[in-house]
Amino acid sequence: MIHVQDASNFLKIIKVGLTTLYKIIPVEPFNLVLFGGTGDLARREILPGLYRRFHVGQVQPGSKIIAIARKHLTEQEFLNFVREAITENLDSKLIEETNLVKFLSLISYRSLDANNKNNWESLKGSLDLSLTTAYYLSVGPSIFSSIISNLAHHDLIRVNSRIVVEKPFGHDLASAKELNRKLSKVFDEGQIYRIDHYLGKETVQNLMALRFGNVLFEPLWNSQYIDHIQITVAEKGGVGGRGEYYDNSGAMRDMVQNHLMQLLCLVAMEPPSKFSPDAVRDEKLKVIRSLEPLAANDIVLGQYGQGGSVPSYREDVGNNTSTTESYIALKCNISNWRWANTAFYLRTGKRLRKRVSEIAVVFKKLPHSIFLDHPQINGNVLAIRLQPNEGINMTVTIKEPGPGGMRLIEVPLDMSFAKSLHGEVGNLTNAYERLIMDVIRGNQTLFMRGDEVEAAWKWTDTVISCWQNNRKQPQIYDPNTSGPEDAYMLTNKDQRRWREIEV
Ligand code: NAP
Repeated sequence: MIHVQDASNFLKIIKVGLTTLYKIIPVEPFNLVLFGGTGDLARREILPGLYRRFHVGQVQPGSKIIAIARKHLTEQEFLNFVREAITENLDSKLIEETNLVKFLSLISYRSLDANNKNNWESLKGSLDLSLTTAYYLSVGPSIFSSIISNLAHHDLIRVNSRIVVEKPFGHDLASAKELNRKLSKVFDEGQIYRIDHYLGKETVQNLMALRFGNVLFEPLWNSQYIDHIQITVAEKGGVGGRGEYYDNSGAMRDMVQNHLMQLLCLVAMEPPSKFSPDAVRDEKLKVIRSLEPLAANDIVLGQYGQGGSVPSYREDVGNNTSTTESYIALKCNISNWRWANTAFYLRTGKRLRKRVSEIAVVFKKLPHSIFLDHPQINGNVLAIRLQPNEGINMTVTIKEPGPGGMRLIEVPLDMSFAKSLHGEVGNLTNAYERLIMDVIRGNQTLFMRGDEVEAAWKWTDTVISCWQNNRKQPQIYDPNTSGPEDAYMLTNKDQRRWREIEV
């Protein structure tokens, strides 16, 4: 049995900045075994995030962070790496030398190859397994299986052990099932944390607070009042150093199957009976299972071409015949009572104009305008921005100020979290640190359940088969644009328009 730790243990309220009060609930001392401790994710997100949780008093002395990779490093070399990771990735205002030294005293490093059986006993000897122990697999998926087997073989799993599995969770339904099968041989579902860091974002959780903590939106949240919904995750960068992985994967598997589908679930799900892990995940699963199969003309694939000094996708991945999509746009439908005939347009791509992630809920036009000079009034748009400038923005129609008749204009009602929280939001938590604290507390609400991941892959596989059976090829698009021309047609044929990709 896994227990959510008692929140009443020390409730601390600490002051951050000059004006803002935040509640910090310390977690009991724990072990975090970080496989892939020298990797990019550990360096940019996990280690700086853990420092920040220590800095605010959430991670307590007595906790242990054991980083693991194959490279032979002395303890001191690894601590230097952690120090660099923190100074490179955090605001210097948050780094206090005395705190940093205390944080580094929690950390140790072990060289261990997950694919062989050496050194696991020594790892075991360094862990007090009576404490909550989280094994974080921040490594490539090819070694997930070896780590799971070695943890079991060396008797490192207890009832209070947890395993955190990074994406990609499988490549298709069959491989996701196989990974679930391996995990479930040695862990209970309540011990498995399949991470999708989008769910740890402040705004994503605010989407649930907005929908289910206000009476205002829910009565309108259906096909009667909502015309359509757009979900955009646009990236400015290319494939970076992940060429080989990405070319085998593409935008559908890398982004849609997890991040975009999770956002779709949160925006479309029915109100859960309570904000508890299984109640929330049951509702998300129902959304995925209600997704209709797509037709070929509901799918647009793109691949960035070369532009100026920017290499093309094919150059980036070193494969001059690649047909992998670096962009995808989909028109989806959810066949249930709430959403029948409401289009959900999803798009994501690399080398686009700006780095923007948002969900836009576009309400229907007024049924009748009483303003003779304005026979057509646009529907309101509720835009939930995940990045940059996290916040919620609602366009409303108002009277243009001043004399001279009733002239109407659309203005944004801006609820920027950064502004309302005095600019501190970005400094407080990032998605990874929030999710790691949830793992330690034993709260799975923001993690994907095994059946949810499998349902997402089942639908994803049908979409991929659909374009493969129809021999669809990606259309080349220029870098720094909004993507391929065909994507415009996806909305234009329904007399709708994509929102601009802008910050
Ligand atoms: P990475 O930079 O390639 O790091 C991989 C880490 O795994 C290194 O510390 C590496 O160290 C270690 N490792 C590799 N083989 C090992 C073995 N046999 N035994 C023990 N350690 C081994 O990868 P990453 O970017 O950090 O990504 C890690 C995981 O997170 C991947 O599954 C990735 O898909 C996922 N992810 C990453 C990001 C991101 O922004 N980077 C975002 C989302 C998800 P040695 O080579 O010294 O062993």
